Amino acid sequence: MADDTPHLYDTLTRAKQPLEPSADGTVRMYVCGPTVYGPIHVGNARPFVLFSLLKRYLTRTGMRVVLASNLTDVNDKIYAAARAEGVPSAELAERYCAQYIADTDRLGLGRPDIEPKVTDAIPEIVALIAELVGKDLAYAAGGDVYFRVRRFPRYGALSGRNPDDMLDTDPGPAKEDPLDFALWKGLKEGEDTFWDSPWGPGRPGWHIECSAMAHSALGDDFEIHGGGIDLVFPHHENEIAQSEGAHDVRMARMWVHNEMLELGGKMSKSDGNIVLLRDALDAWPADVLIMFFVRSHYRSKLPYNDAALEESARAADRIRNGVRTLDRAMAAPGDTLQPAVAEQIAAARARFFAALADDFNTPGALAAVFEAVTAANAAADGDRRPPAGQLQSIRTELAEMLDVLGLGSLAAAGDALPDDVSALVQARAAARAQRDFAESDRLRDAIAERGFDVRDTPEGQQVSPR
Ligand SMILES: [Zn+2]
Repeated sequence: MADDTPHLYDTLTRAKQPLEPSADGTVRMYVCGPTVYGPIHVGNARPFVLFSLLKRYLTRTGMRVVLASNLTDVNDKIYAAARAEGVPSAELAERYCAQYIADTDRLGLGRPDIEPKVTDAIPEIVALIAELVGKDLAYAAGGDVYFRVRRFPRYGALSGRNPDDMLDTDPGPAKEDPLDFALWKGLKEGEDTFWDSPWGPGRPGWHIECSAMAHSALGDDFEIHGGGIDLVFPHHENEIAQSEGAHDVRMARMWVHNEMLELGGKMSKSDGNIVLLRDALDAWPADVLIMFFVRSHYRSKLPYNDAALEESARAADRIRNGVRTLDRAMAAPGDTLQPAVAEQIAAARARFFAALADDFNTPGALAAVFEAVTAANAAADGDRRPPAGQLQSIRTELAEMLDVLGLGSLAAAGDALPDDVSALVQARAAARAQRDFAESDRLRDAIAERGFDVRDTPEGQQVSPR
């Protein structure tokens, strides 16, 4: 059905475009990841969740998807954070890389297929800079290397900017033109992570890293380049100039950007807003956080506050309760086949996939899930219940839709906690009563390893499957 061809809004052409896989049926996505100088902000989880779910959905439509997302582990902010702590910058970056993996793992969405680090890609980055210098698109000056923006005529196409209007660009003492941006930054006092290069010791600029890592991971002309909308200029504009300048091939067929998360409104933490992903996941189960993200379209600004999370928790509960109603009905099924219910579920499923095909409209898809839950519960609660086979197939349809949205835990079977998890939860209550928060954190991790999230509420711990 033409309706079900996935379309996504492309920032470059400013229109929804059909997503066409490469000749072998593969969709290759490169998504800019975080700079690891501290634990990640809950806002950084938005692109992680979006592109993980987009991969799930596209895979469900039959495409093979390769998702690559980088980690920037050398940078000014990393030097500064390491200096403030008095540790080597490589050590600090390594610690926060591990923290990023651990935090995003708690979302339960799996990992990108390829997660390159800048410090592992230096030879490729140096080679790409050398190519640009060889083509006269870049020049060395005072230990740095700069890209000659005016030599790349399409510069500004992605962000809709005219180079002549970019008056606030950093002049930089060694640059030929204030518009030019750094590809290689010569070693400065106090920088303890650096490499030799044909232009002297130093380290890469931020933009060239992604051009080189995207090329190594996915090749040229891959299907989707993604990231936060704040990266359109200058980061993605510069990536296009570098990659297309060097290879004379379009870098990506489609540019997909998520809007920003906005902090505001009432928060439960006395010390201010909950801004770290790990704090958000301490306060809320992963499925509530994912529900929070999928309730909004990825191109809408998303306010993050307690009220929005509480609403998301209620939405998750409504679905979980709906599935349990079905499970109870299956324990005492009837014998009245209900074709009308089957039609309602099929219609909801069609609307679910049509919504996702239309620029990954997750709120529309979620509305279809609620329609299916309502139809299923009307049948399960009625006097003339469907037979077990029909109830089971409705449950399977629901679980499949929830899984595409990363909410498969809402259709997990059963109420009771396994014995070992329940013992850990009790031990954690005792640790918290003694204000032994290190032990409490250790037990939370142990519970998480067994597949459950713990949320601390005024009523005590609430435990739910991840
Ligand atoms: Zn990037």
